Amino acid sequence: MSTEVDAVVVGTGPNGMAAAVTLARAGLSVQVFEAQPTIGGGARTLDLGLAPGITHDICSAVHPLAISSPFFVDFDLRARGMELTTPDISYAQPLDGKPAALAFHDLAETVDHLGAAGPEWHRFFAPLLERVDDAIWLSLGDKRSVPETLRDVPGVANVVKFGLRLLSQASPSWNIPLSHESTQSLFTGVAAHAIGGLPAMGTAATATMLSTVAHAAGWPSPIGGSQAIIDHLVADLEAHGGTVTADARIEHVSDMPAARAYLLDTSALGAAQIFSGLLPTHVDRALRGFRQGNAAAKVDFVLNGPVPWADPNVNRAGTIHVGGTRAQMAAAEADVMNGRMPEHPVCLVSDPTIFDPTREVNGLRPLWTYCHVPFDCPLDPAEYIIRQMERFAPGFRDTIVAYNSIPASEMAGHNQNYIGGDIATGVVSFYRMMARPRTSWDNYSLGVPGAYLCSAATPPAPGVHGMNGWFAARRALKNRFGISEAPGLSPQA
Ligand SMILES: Cc1cc2nc3c(=O)[nH]c(=O)nc-3n(C[C@H](O)[C@H](O)[C@H](O)COP(=O)(O)OP(=O)(O)OC[C@H]3O[C@@H](n4cnc5c(N)ncnc54)[C@H](O)[C@@H]3O)c2cc1C
Repeated sequence: MSTEVDAVVVGTGPNGMAAAVTLARAGLSVQVFEAQPTIGGGARTLDLGLAPGITHDICSAVHPLAISSPFFVDFDLRARGMELTTPDISYAQPLDGKPAALAFHDLAETVDHLGAAGPEWHRFFAPLLERVDDAIWLSLGDKRSVPETLRDVPGVANVVKFGLRLLSQASPSWNIPLSHESTQSLFTGVAAHAIGGLPAMGTAATATMLSTVAHAAGWPSPIGGSQAIIDHLVADLEAHGGTVTADARIEHVSDMPAARAYLLDTSALGAAQIFSGLLPTHVDRALRGFRQGNAAAKVDFVLNGPVPWADPNVNRAGTIHVGGTRAQMAAAEADVMNGRMPEHPVCLVSDPTIFDPTREVNGLRPLWTYCHVPFDCPLDPAEYIIRQMERFAPGFRDTIVAYNSIPASEMAGHNQNYIGGDIATGVVSFYRMMARPRTSWDNYSLGVPGAYLCSAATPPAPGVHGMNGWFAARRALKNRFGISEAPGLSPQA
């Protein structure tokens, strides 16, 4: 077959761009197509027209993995001039009528602030912080190979340490190692990022890794918003000869130029549709049957001042998990899993102006929020979020100047990967972190020579870390182009 280009990538989310950059860095010609008029998928920063000059992170906002993942460590956003700020409090958990529980970037400060609960937090995380990369590789590996860092005796010991902690928080006896309300709710707020059972393996794994990173690199955000991450990836791709075309939805493989490799930053269903009629039956069936996860519904606010948190310390945190105690969050997430809208949903909140003054314009600021809802829920989330905010920040309603609200059932309108509001692009159980989107030795291959899935619907999991794209691209390089060595990605390489 004569080809017009070496590789085509469909989708400009962080994984699509990670794949495209990796392929271009290996010397291939790469064309990227994006359905939306704006580039960046789940890492876009847009002016929603709510107030002049105010921009919103319409999906991701906080980026612990954009500096910690092996892909981004090599790509090195900071060396490319991207400014990130790391709040001194990584995340906060407001509690009714009490001081909020706080996870500082610094473990010792966290332990100090937690008082009597401090020693158990230290026991949980200090051993994992001795070799943070092990925790990261364990979580962000392809689950098909043993990362080099884990191949020595301390590495194996760290797998055991990580595993025991994870298991302790995935079991009904999860309150034994974390016995105080403050440590329980802090951990559970992070576990809820996976929008799943509490306690369960998937949520416990998410929290063990993300909370460890919070005390290592911290939980930073890019100055100006998440878009900066994508802009740097696009700049690198273009510097190596690649191109990106927006407003170009790919419905079928015939919409693309002839290429030796196709990498799809799409949902599993999207991949089945693009290769409709060409996939082996068992692959087609598995992709179409990949279960969607629970959902999120988004509200972007414009406020006329900072959130009036009852505990002013919360205003120093980059991320706030609004949901109350461990038991309250577990009950809300159980409702979501059972298809019921919780009265008091778990909400994630970030006020970027606190650590990035450039986000405030004429005294107005954006507030990033979303809450967890049942799959495909059509309800407007705004009142639910406002009520939860009022609970811990009385007077919040009076600071609202405007807002834009997107129910879960409409999330796919701006990103077709988020079917029914499933922002993880497929269920995130522990098993499905390894077998995404199907049970196979090669989860990136679509079973047709040269066709790969590279989105969050593959291992390791969702998040802005680029690992799914990087792993898929490396398989394509090896199997289609005979390039076994991963290309260097640093600005100097
Ligand atoms: C509300 C929300 C908050 C989040 N918060 C965080 C956070 O703070 N930190 C974090 O790390 N992660 C967060 N995430 C998750 C993170 O954004 C995603 O896991 C990540 O963006 C997945 O990257 P991806 O490249 O796999 O897919 P996406 O970022 O979803 O990008 C997929 C792209 O492919 C395009 N596409 C799909 N099908 C086609 C087609 N047929 N033709 C052309 N283009 C197509 C889409 O338009 C989209 O641009 C959040 C997500 C959401 C929605």
